[in-house]
Amino acid sequence: MGEKIKKIIKTIKVDVDKCNGCRACELVCSAFHAAPQYSSNNPARSRIRVISEPRKDVYVPVYAGEHAKAECMGRDKYVIDGKEYDECAFCRSSCPSRDLFKEPDSGLPLKCDMCEGEAEPLCVKWCLAKALIYEEREEEVEEEVKLEDVEIGLESLVDKYGMEKVMDSVARLSLSKKG
Ligand code: SF4
Ligand code: SF4
Repeated sequence: MGEKIKKIIKTIKVDVDKCNGCRACELVCSAFHAAPQYSSNNPARSRIRVISEPRKDVYVPVYAGEHAKAECMGRDKYVIDGKEYDECAFCRSSCPSRDLFKEPDSGLPLKCDMCEGEAEPLCVKWCLAKALIYEEREEEVEEEVKLEDVEIGLESLVDKYGMEKVMDSVARLSLSKKG
């Protein structure tokens, strides 16, 4: 079992009722992630998109989440104030079935990184309607040991001591664990 470590869990709470559809969040996100930084803004490059129905005053900010390699097998339908939304409207994934959350030039998936390096996510900072609320909490989690890290470590041991010695040590270790 891995060791327990403290991890900061970051969340952005979305208060849909307060969102007025100004799309400042989309602009600042795309500008922050432009190369060079702040050289341009284009909502298509934003990691947050506001799904809107202005006639019904419905605005729902959706954050870009994990990339999905394949389309999902099931779909969700949302009905808000009597209007039925597209089956994929509120999904956070960048997936093969739509263009949302894909870098327009390269097609690479976009994912919210919580504005890494900034004290507070910029979409939160620039949401003057206070529809986005940033929260942090500390949780104890088991330290993840990545298989690739183990492989890199083993490779360097083999380089240094040779395969035979490393295998002997592994065999000795496994005997001592069994005994
Ligand atoms: S900046 Fe705030 S109010 Fe404006 S669209 Fe984004 S979430 Fe809504
Ligand atoms: S937290 Fe940062 S990266 Fe994520 S959507 Fe907001 S501005 Fe974009």
